[in-house]
Amino acid sequence: MRFEPQLHHIDGAFIESASGERFETLDPATNEPLALAAAGDAPDVDRAVAAARRAFDDGPWPRLKASERAAVLRAVAEAIRAHAGEFIEREVADIGMPVAQMKGLAARAATNFEYYAGVVGELHGRAFQVGEEFINYTIRKPVGVAGLIMPWNAPLMLSSWRIAPALAAGNTVVLKPAEWSPLTATLLASVLAEAGVPAGAFNVVHGFGETAGAALSRHPGVDLICFTGETETGKAIIAAGAPTLKRSSVELGGKSPVVVFDDADPELCVDAALAQIFTMNGQRCTAGSRLLVQAGLYERLVEAVAGRARRIRVGDPADPSTELGPLIRPEHLERVLAHIESAREQGARVLAGGRRPGGPLLERGNYLEATVIADVDEHMRAFREEIFGPVLVAMPFADEAEAIRLANATDYGLAAYVWTNDLRRAHRVAHALDTGMCWVNSQNVRDLRTPFGGVKASGIGREGGDYAFDFYCDTEIVHVALGSHHIPRLGLGEPA
Ligand code: NAD
Repeated sequence: MRFEPQLHHIDGAFIESASGERFETLDPATNEPLALAAAGDAPDVDRAVAAARRAFDDGPWPRLKASERAAVLRAVAEAIRAHAGEFIEREVADIGMPVAQMKGLAARAATNFEYYAGVVGELHGRAFQVGEEFINYTIRKPVGVAGLIMPWNAPLMLSSWRIAPALAAGNTVVLKPAEWSPLTATLLASVLAEAGVPAGAFNVVHGFGETAGAALSRHPGVDLICFTGETETGKAIIAAGAPTLKRSSVELGGKSPVVVFDDADPELCVDAALAQIFTMNGQRCTAGSRLLVQAGLYERLVEAVAGRARRIRVGDPADPSTELGPLIRPEHLERVLAHIESAREQGARVLAGGRRPGGPLLERGNYLEATVIADVDEHMRAFREEIFGPVLVAMPFADEAEAIRLANATDYGLAAYVWTNDLRRAHRVAHALDTGMCWVNSQNVRDLRTPFGGVKASGIGREGGDYAFDFYCDTEIVHVALGSHHIPRLGLGEPA
């Protein structure tokens, strides 16, 4: 095995599952075993939740001043930077992302902690003066034990971005990483402990969704669940939390449109369209996976995108020249190939890729060529469903109204990208799209202060920026009478 066994981290200690069971993870580049991980189940989740509960009810973490918690989070950021090489090596091995695209990974994770260390200092309530009679004010309080259930496509980035605000607000955490990508979560647990996060305030339970994930999402000792993953899983998690009324934030799938009007800068659009679907191996929730192009520009633009896609270097993710690495697992590759086949059968044109690349090295891993499928229609599965791989589907539109209708013709609504040099149209279209986030003449560039989240089947809630504190904090209102006020007087009459 290339990596050491991935153990749970509970109450400050690395431990095996109560059952002693472990499971094997695979290297997406070769499908060789990569590591063994403790297979957590309900008893392990019970222990982790009990530790987090004690740390919340009696431990120091929620009782520290915000500035003291912020100092620990800044130390976490430093420790992540100090281990940057190790984090990157693990993430590349675990999920097959090209190392060239992972260079900024540890820096970004560190920034997540630093950012929330800064924001928590700004966390304040509001005061409501009611004449001379009352002063009412709000206070923000941590909610309790936060369960974080994370996907495999960007484990460190997505989890650090939730752990940081959860801890900053004074909650304690149980993280359940995806079973296909346990490696950075274990390292993160030791880095957090090293930086001074007290025992029990941050716990990790490895394991499968149906066992460890399900146990966490229904656990009565968990107050809130932050989930990122597939839409169907999100529904199951909300249902599992309903009997104990868990607060939940669910960031789900996407099928985001890239809408290109014929007055847009075609060169920029080609670059952005390629980057938006083929970076991160296409396994990106905000991928621009549907290219909608105004009819006059359609053939030329789609040909240009396909021409460049054919030249994308598919290969070993650890090779710095690789642009597109392997998909996470053989079964996921099969699913993606089935989507391509169904589009082909329904009459769409596969202009680039669509196959596994040849050669003895690449055949061992879950590689797929960068794929561009033209002339889909809005009823095809490839147009409506999330493929979550390096597959771009394209179709033309006639005018603004049709562009909006097609862009909205999916159950999802996570991100959208609009390209036009007509200022008024840009804003009109951005407002008309069913989406949580829209970029105008831009690829996906995020400022940490901005809200992140989707509409429709893409999720419920907003995280990012101080929006995260609406989720990770309770707001309590305190009503204080300053003088006399009317109090109804009961029970002064004769007994009936
Ligand atoms: P997934 O839903 O299969 O798994 C996500 C997590 O949920 C894993 O940790 C898994 O073990 C756990 N899980 C699975 N079944 C469970 C159950 N019944 N109860 C509790 N937990 C359970 O998703 P995935 O395949 O890991 O990730 C890919 C999906 O994530 C894509 O749909 C992608 O769009 C989405 N995603 C969304 C965002 C976003 O912010 N909107 C970001 C990244 C990924």
